[in-house]
Order: sequence, then structure tokens, then C-alpha cells
Amino acid sequence: AHLARIDAVDEKVHAFLYVDREGALAVARAVDAKRDAGERLGPLAGVPLALKDIFTTKDMPTTVGSKILEGWVPPYDATLTQKLRAADVVILGKTNMDEFAMGSSTENSAYGPTGNPWDLTRIPGGSGGGSSAALASYEAPLAIGTDTGGSIRQPASMTGTVGVKPTYGGVSRYGMVAFSSSLDQGGPCARTVLDAALLHEVIAGHDPMDSTSIDAPVPPVVEAARNGSVEGMRVGVVKQFAGEGYQAGVVQRFNESVELLKSLGATIVELDCPSFDLALSAYYLIAPSECSSNLARFDAMRYGLRVGDDGTKSAEEVTALTREAGFGDEVKRRVILGTYALSSGYYDAYYGSAQKVRTLITRDFEKAFEQVDVIVSPTTPTTAFPIGERADDPMAMYLADLCTIPTNLAGNSAMSLPCGLAPEDGLPVGLQIIAPAMKDDRLYKVGAAVE
Ligand code: GLN
Repeated sequence: AHLARIDAVDEKVHAFLYVDREGALAVARAVDAKRDAGERLGPLAGVPLALKDIFTTKDMPTTVGSKILEGWVPPYDATLTQKLRAADVVILGKTNMDEFAMGSSTENSAYGPTGNPWDLTRIPGGSGGGSSAALASYEAPLAIGTDTGGSIRQPASMTGTVGVKPTYGGVSRYGMVAFSSSLDQGGPCARTVLDAALLHEVIAGHDPMDSTSIDAPVPPVVEAARNGSVEGMRVGVVKQFAGEGYQAGVVQRFNESVELLKSLGATIVELDCPSFDLALSAYYLIAPSECSSNLARFDAMRYGLRVGDDGTKSAEEVTALTREAGFGDEVKRRVILGTYALSSGYYDAYYGSAQKVRTLITRDFEKAFEQVDVIVSPTTPTTAFPIGERADDPMAMYLADLCTIPTNLAGNSAMSLPCGLAPEDGLPVGLQIIAPAMKDDRLYKVGAAVE
């Protein structure tokens, strides 16, 4: 049924870069056979899923939305891919994304944009717009995203779906193509809070193949999602997540959510997190710096594309020609910014300062979580904008992640879930819930209560 739905709508939505029809049907049939034989089934047996094209899959191409990896079929499965297979999930295919997960609209994909199923002339958010659009268009009931600065939560908000950025280290990064290693985190996307929890439980857990993976039990997310409540909880509202640039309808729906939390027994506490104002600036030094280092491996020798290898050019020339042809504008902009910020003499002024701001943001969160159990905010300041509107204005694009980035810098957990439609444009608004590190279960407890 989901393959038929993809056939019917994906030409317009363009959520998928690759659909593995044969593979998906083979897994579905194998699950049926196992069930008929009375064998033990995995926890998500037979459930179709759309996988962001940033996770390696040994039977499907992995492009990361880039020309530089066009047609590359990895020799191994990411840990997350292995876990999905072990849970008997049916992987339908790979979803569209901003190239190397750099963007907030999926317009930076080398393979063309994805449409927002609510209005195909608008962006579905990014970088994981393909995964969220697949959910919103009923092409898949579950999807996987990655969140470096908001790429799970912001698309969830734009498409009226649920997305969770687990605690940093909660889901393995092994086989997840690196953008900014100290920020990148894979996580679940779904249409309901409980569905997200069921997927979260399957993909999370310690992995010795990832040196930053947390060696601790997975927070009890499913139990929390089944027992939604905010009774007696203290919920923070951060002063800095408001003001200029926030669309009226977004603010209205957010305020209604705060009222709902109160009526369900939560106490609202106003919080001051002054360092949050610096988060965007710190992020746009740290993320490009780490990306300039991570993307050095795309040298035309090891993977994918190779341009100009005609026997007359040096290896350096082939590398340069390949990167020139293989990377898009945003990726080049970040590599240049990052290389500059890391240059000798500039390191302390830029990267070093950004790391200090990062510590201040972490302290703001620590202080906040002494006073409250969770924090709430709009996920993103506006609803989905028209395709093309911010394409030539990187600053306007970067502002889409104003409310999501502090959590990545501090490494704690956050969810976006729908909280109604903005009256002025009828488009979905996202409510963000933020919890301390390794307290991901609180997101689900609160999310299930207000869903
Ligand atoms: N939009 C942000 C960026 O462009 C975040 C991306 C992400 O979370 N992968 O870097």
C-alpha cells in the first residue's frame, strides 16, 4: 500500500531519492513467512520506514543529497540501519535532504527540492525535508532524520509531524555521514508521539563503534509515551525564544499550548537564558569548522565522483576539479568559512570563542533545569515559506533554526510536535519540548499529554 502511495504522489512531493521496491517487498514477505512459521518477530515487524539518505545502506545508494556521492553504494550498513533490519522494519527507500544536511529547506539537495505536502509550492523544512514530507504525505508511517541544528525538529514543525532529537550520544553515529560530529544526532520521525517512541527505542542504545555513544540504558520512552501527563510538572518558557521575527500565528498557537499545559496541571516558570542569543553565531562557526574537516575525505580518490582523471593531471588537480563539480554552493560556503575559522591565528578568535559560548549555553540549560522539568518554545519562528524565498539569503535561512540550535550545542534532547495551524496561512505550527540529557522520556511524557 505504501509503495502504491509513493507511485501516486512522489512524482509531485519528491520525498524519495531512491525507492527499493524489490527489497521492501522481499523483507515484507520474509516477515510474513516468519510469522506464519510461528517465529519470533522484531518489535517493528513489517512496518515501512523512510530512511534519510545520510545513513549507509549496503543494498542501496547513499548520496547524502550530493553529486559527489552519486551512485555510491556503501560496503556496510550504519548501526542504525542494522538495528532497523534487526527489528524487521521494511525500509522503503532513501529520502531527499539538503546536501550533507546543510540547510533548512531541502532546496540545497543536488537532486532538486522536496515539496511540502500541505502546499507543494512551499518548503518542507530541512535538512530532513524528505523524511518529514514522506510522513505528511502518507508515503511512510515512520522515518529517520538527523539533527545537527534542527534538521529533525524544524521539518517536523513545517509538515505537522513529530520529530525527536535524542540526547547527543543516544543513537549511534556509526555509518551516518558526518557533517558536524560534535552536534550530529540521528533520531525518530513519525506522525504520533507513541510511534516516535516505538522507533526511538529500536534505534537507540550504546554502540562500541561510535566513540561518543553513551553507555547507559535507553530512557524509558515508550512507557512515557503511553502515560502522558504534566500533572505537577514545572515547565519553563524562555524569554529569549520570542520577539521580532516570530509570526503572529505561531506565537498564538504557542501561547495556547502554554495555556493547555497549565490546564493539565503544569506550573509555568519564566526563564532567562541570555547566552541563547549567541547560539546561532556560535553554531555557524562550529558547524562549518567541523564540516570543513569532515568533508576533506571527499577527495575523488576514495568515493564516488572523479572529474578530470585523464592521465595529464596531478592528484591535487583531480581532487580540486572533483570538489568544484561535486559540491553545491552551500557546502562550498561552509567549507570556506570553516577553513578560515580554523586557520592559524584565527582559531582563538573564532572557533575558540564559539566553544566558550557553547559552554555558556550549556550552563544556561543547567541553571534552567534546576528550576524546571522541561522547557517549551515554538520549534521555528515561522510556518513553511515558499520554495525560493530564502534561497539567495543564507542569513534568512539560518534564522529558521533559532530555537532548535541551543539544544544541539548543549547536547540535550528535544521534540517537535504539531500544535495546530497558523490562522493566517493554515499551515502547521510546531511546539518544541526540551529536556535534559538522558531524560528523553520526559519529552514523550509531555508530548503525549498535549498531543
Ligand atoms: N539548518 C541547519 C544548518 O544548515 C541545521 C542542519 C541540520 O540540523 N543538519 O546547518
